[in-house]
Amino acid sequence: MDTPEASFLTWQQQFNTEQDCLNHLKQLKWPNGFVCPRCAHDKGTELHCRQLTECDHCHKQASITSNTLFHNSNLPLIKWFWALYFIDSDKGSISALRLSKLIEVNWRTAQLILKKVRAAMGNNDSLYRLSGTIVLDVAFICGKHKGNRGRDA
Ligand SMILES: [Zn+2]
Repeated sequence: MDTPEASFLTWQQQFNTEQDCLNHLKQLKWPNGFVCPRCAHDKGTELHCRQLTECDHCHKQASITSNTLFHNSNLPLIKWFWALYFIDSDKGSISALRLSKLIEVNWRTAQLILKKVRAAMGNNDSLYRLSGTIVLDVAFICGKHKGNRGRDA
């Protein structure tokens, strides 16, 4: 039996709060700090909701979740992150009912999450790690994954 690369405990410590998830996404999106998507200026101001950063130069508001699975979702990031963990642990075969109980959402929401995640997975030849030491692959969550990444990446 395969075990997820990231243990439950590790995942739990790493993504304990909404802020942890947000910071992680931010790190993936702007590894060298904020870059404005419109003018490439490198200084921005975080708005109070923290999901948006406003460019100090052209005032474009850049969302951390744009172009990701999480875009336009009202669901807290932490629930998404945990959904990814559970889906990955079950190799994608988890039921909507079980997922809904694990992350405390209704069945409909769980069904939607599964649909989105499976669609993203469908772009790959084989299911690759959503969790693990690399945690979340930015290519995956941005839906831009191409080719074989494999499990040894
Ligand atoms: Zn700008």
